Amino acid sequence: MLHILLIEDSDDDAELLRLALLDSEIVAQLTRVATRAGLIAALGERTWDLVVCDHHLPDLDALIALDIIAAAGGGEPAMPVIVMSGTMETAEAVEAMHRGARDCMAKQDLPKLLPVLEREIAHARAQAELRSARATLQQRAEQNPVTGLPNRARLELHLQTLLRDEGAVALLLIEAGRRSHAIRALLPDAGHKLQQEMARRLAMQTGPEDLLAHLDDGSFAVVMPHCSGEAALAALAGRLNQALEPPFELGDYRIAISSRIGACRAGDDAEHMLLAATAALLQVDARRGGAYRLYTPDMHQVGKRRLILESALHQALSREEFELHYQPKASISNGTIVGAEALLRWRHPTLGPISPLEFVPILEDSGLIVEVGRWVIEQACLQACRWRDAGLPPINIAVNLSAAQFHESGLIDTIRDILAGSHLPPERLVLEITERVAINGEAPTIAVMDALHRLGVRIALDDFGADYSSLGYLKRFPIDTLKIDRMFITDLDASEADRNIVRAIVAMGHSLGLRVVAEGIETETQRAFLATCACDVMQGYLYSRPLPADDFTRFLASTALQQA
Ligand code: C2E
Ligand code: MG
Ligand code: MG
Repeated sequence: MLHILLIEDSDDDAELLRLALLDSEIVAQLTRVATRAGLIAALGERTWDLVVCDHHLPDLDALIALDIIAAAGGGEPAMPVIVMSGTMETAEAVEAMHRGARDCMAKQDLPKLLPVLEREIAHARAQAELRSARATLQQRAEQNPVTGLPNRARLELHLQTLLRDEGAVALLLIEAGRRSHAIRALLPDAGHKLQQEMARRLAMQTGPEDLLAHLDDGSFAVVMPHCSGEAALAALAGRLNQALEPPFELGDYRIAISSRIGACRAGDDAEHMLLAATAALLQVDARRGGAYRLYTPDMHQVGKRRLILESALHQALSREEFELHYQPKASISNGTIVGAEALLRWRHPTLGPISPLEFVPILEDSGLIVEVGRWVIEQACLQACRWRDAGLPPINIAVNLSAAQFHESGLIDTIRDILAGSHLPPERLVLEITERVAINGEAPTIAVMDALHRLGVRIALDDFGADYSSLGYLKRFPIDTLKIDRMFITDLDASEADRNIVRAIVAMGHSLGLRVVAEGIETETQRAFLATCACDVMQGYLYSRPLPADDFTRFLASTALQQA
């Protein structure tokens, strides 16, 4: 239905037009105004498909009407106007055309009017379609197609406007990390649902003035226009992280993700703010979920270093920059060596040795850990066989397995192949995992553990106490060994609480039939206390630091001699 506005004071002329329209194929609703005030009100009411205007009215004429219509449209008449008059001079008609009229007709020419109306209506329709197509395109260009939330382009515009008009503005970047990328790649439907559900949960935490944007896959952003201070920012970040914490129910899947947030307050422009918030995001420890960092200027350096390390890590394996060190583990009661933990070492060609605490999270974030982790398992197994073949006493060899490796579909085959290739008896291989492997849910985690057990390898739960310390996991996970985190060992001498915790963990581990290892033993008093708890195995600088393979060989040979 078309809406035609008729500016006409004569009832008769209006009726003539109405009848002419009725006779035609044009389906339109005709609205009539006869005064300047009526015209202004009608223009405020809606956009008209067509305006038909008489020339001489009591308080306006067609030229003034055209000016009013143009003013309402921001300079140009936003709708087609046809002037119809019985008494218009040619000069006036020309002037009307100058002021934006699409046509000027004589009233006596009513039969001629209809084709003109039809032409103008077709034109108006085409214009309207063009406008709506432009609006859709504009919207699409500024919207994330999966969630319909504003996208990065829209976010930047919004930030730019706020920075210009208000000055004080905060930006939070929320990153659900590689997991959500992987889910989208492997299970597109679940991936879309996950993003939509994340958007819904995040939207519930943001205020009416905040802008929630969806940058891509698992990355969202919130712009906070009136941030009262760092505490308010941290509080919002905490709520956002918390909202993403409960597992997502996606059809047949139950998926948990861990999110992290980097934020910044103010900046020169939108681009700088995004860079600053990204630098803060990179500072969040990748291995701990629910974390948040606020940008400080020194972070840029750190962010840069991270990028440098990540790009170097891509070639580190082929350039043979990795090496394994081996830290001996010994029986607490009699000091005999029972095994070794293989620990990855990396020497950057110009920066020198880099701590695994720094580069392992980068390997995990970039996905390189799967390939590098495979190399670690292979090297460790081959080394263990070399020691055995050299006639040294058989020991267990432990390697660390990241959550990403643990849930990688090729893991079981990889380990089977490595065992077959190295001829290491499977029960000699210990895989050290942490509670973080449970991120995919308990059932899939237990399934992988069962499959590993069927291969004959053993599983140790590493860093127990550092993360969730879930006693439930201890009971339900088919593990063989429990490693108490160094955090509890460090303060044993001073802290009664830590002594109680350690005593309880050892007792609990034993009641579940687990072997208990204490990590990070540095002093004789720590060792003695653990001996009174009947802890089974010690690992720490007191007994030995991690050693290069050759040094470990000598260490193993000399302890074998002592024991002989
Ligand atoms: P982790 O598996 O808990 O390894 C024990 C860490 O404690 C090692 O640090 C070891 O050098 C250190 N340590 C052992 N005894 C003592 C002690 O008495 N005092 C102190 N202060 N520290 C002690 P490192 O080698 O820096 O490795 C840190 C972490 O990096 C490891 O913790 C492990 O989570 C990870 N990592 C190392 N190698 C690998 C690897 O091949 N794969 C994976 N996924 N992670 C690895
Ligand atoms: Mg370990
Ligand atoms: Mg550990």
